[in-house]
Amino acid sequence: MKIESNKNVDIKGKNIVIIGIGRSGAGAGKLAKFLGANVLISEQKSSSKNIRLSKKLQSFGIKTELGGHSEKIFNADLWIISPGVPQNISIVKTAYKKKIEIISEIEFASWYANAQIIAITGSNGKTTTVNLLFKMCDVKELAPILGGNIGTAFSDLVLDDLQNNTENRVYILEISSFQMERIKYFKPRISIFLNITEDHLDRYKGMEDYINAKLNMIQNQDKNDHIVFNLDDEILNKKFNDTLPKKHGFSLFENPKNMFSADSTKIYDEAYNKLIDLKNIRLPGKHNLSNILAAATAAKILGIPNSKISDTITSFTGVEHRIEKVLNINGVTYYNDSKATNVEAVQVALDSFVNPINLILGGKDKGGKFTSLLPHFKNKVKEIIVYGEAASLIKSALGDAVKLKIVFSLKDAVKTCHTRSKPGDIVLLSPGCASFDQFNNFEERGDVFKSIVKEIAKS
Ligand code: ADP
Repeated sequence: MKIESNKNVDIKGKNIVIIGIGRSGAGAGKLAKFLGANVLISEQKSSSKNIRLSKKLQSFGIKTELGGHSEKIFNADLWIISPGVPQNISIVKTAYKKKIEIISEIEFASWYANAQIIAITGSNGKTTTVNLLFKMCDVKELAPILGGNIGTAFSDLVLDDLQNNTENRVYILEISSFQMERIKYFKPRISIFLNITEDHLDRYKGMEDYINAKLNMIQNQDKNDHIVFNLDDEILNKKFNDTLPKKHGFSLFENPKNMFSADSTKIYDEAYNKLIDLKNIRLPGKHNLSNILAAATAAKILGIPNSKISDTITSFTGVEHRIEKVLNINGVTYYNDSKATNVEAVQVALDSFVNPINLILGGKDKGGKFTSLLPHFKNKVKEIIVYGEAASLIKSALGDAVKLKIVFSLKDAVKTCHTRSKPGDIVLLSPGCASFDQFNNFEERGDVFKSIVKEIAKS
């Protein structure tokens, strides 16, 4: 099937094969089925979760195969590939040879989306920023909805709108680099770039590949569209010099060209009137100030009044598992930052506190440089407790610079911190690694951390 435009792509009666049965694969399957295609979802793993999902999809008339890919996947007019599926596996190479068109789920959903799209990417801060922007856009003139890498797949949002036709829709999409890998016509009205730091180096050949995947987001934007980007990011501030869309930088340093600027006490609007006192912001850390400026800039482009922007900033308390305060036990405050799956997120967590920190690191290594944490210790980090698969790697990177103990599990780590901490200390789970060695995902890791802390409080 040759796709020459993204307008009214008719897939009725076409064979659509979806590789991967995750959230986005299932969403794309339902959308394709609704549009009249013959859909086959093919998945390598046959977990109980996949079996349940597969049965549900079959009830919609979608064919599924689990536990491996059969030859049927090559009888296809179009492939939609889930973000978790690596680029270079043999079935993908074969599909290329057979000249099957391959796209991502975000690309597919965008063909049928009849509303403006705001797409947010970056190595860290995406979820916090999309949530902020979503709340800022909660005005009667707009019908914002959140999706993409967070919560609901874009295809599910689009399917729902095709069935129920919502006016003034704005899609606010959190976009990971994986989701931008097979883009053809995807065209956000506003693309937002928060920061680019080393991440997912287990998937990409190097930084350049990773950056290029994220930059695919602007490839179809034109002069009527907008790019909002972080001027303080060394990579991003050089990337958009020759691009067509209107550019709007944001920065923690004053810059008269920016829509909003901040100094050490306030955020100012474009006329340099006070928007808000920093002391009224409830999110910790400069990184969150940066996220706030990004969201405010995009909201302003969408025509949201300053009063709504400032009200949202003062009422927003953050998202679960991101430097989330759990409890204070005998003067020691426990923070759950389970979402810190890379070292840059750990750095900003460390920079957000002045009190002594008992830091819990560990999990499944993602190739980050743990030595880059050293300048952020600033005599605040009293001890590091490491657990999980990456424990010895972290010990060899940091063990000479700071007191460090290896334990087996997260529970052991929390208990060790509990016995060693003193009133005024912070116990911070900001693991700097993926969770998959001992947990299903970062949410489960954060939930387990919180329940251990609560158990300790009761004992
Ligand atoms: P994402 O959706 O991109 O993973 P989140 O908002 O979920 O981003 O935050 C992930 C982690 O990154 C959390 O530990 C959070 O404290 C940290 N973080 C949030 N914003 C930033 C930022 N602008 N720069 C660096 N780290 C950040």
